[in-house]
Amino acid sequence: MKKSSEAIQISSNISPKKLDEILEEMILSVESQLWISVEDGYEGNSFWISTPDDPEGEYWPSAGIIELDINNGAFTKIVSLAHEVGHYFLEKDKDFGSENHKMFEESLAWYLGYKYFEDKGFVIDPEEYKKEASKCLGEYVRSLNDDKN
Ligand SMILES: [Zn+2]
Repeated sequence: MKKSSEAIQISSNISPKKLDEILEEMILSVESQLWISVEDGYEGNSFWISTPDDPEGEYWPSAGIIELDINNGAFTKIVSLAHEVGHYFLEKDKDFGSENHKMFEESLAWYLGYKYFEDKGFVIDPEEYKKEASKCLGEYVRSLNDDKN
């Protein structure tokens, strides 16, 4: 774990080149420490795909896959990566990992992913992160309301 003095402060004003480097480091951290495979996503959004439980005991090479929308800039990818990592942590939590309201689950994923990277020394600007989280939560609310109609 990095000491807080070495923490990288991440915001959208950092140069795209530097953000790409930070994103690369964050992906390496996730891949080497959590065994999550991070891939390019071509479906217009970013998401988490868990590797199914394997009753046969066969070997699965990864805990799951995170797809990051290739059309997003580096900062948005960083924020999305944090959120999707949050889904991974939530899913493996024995008390809170299942049977949740969609909004509860999404909110927890936003929080858990932020805290994971903060702990690893990647500190995303909390105001920008919250803004992005609010935007996405607003979209989930709309999609949930659409489902009812
Ligand atoms: Zn989500």
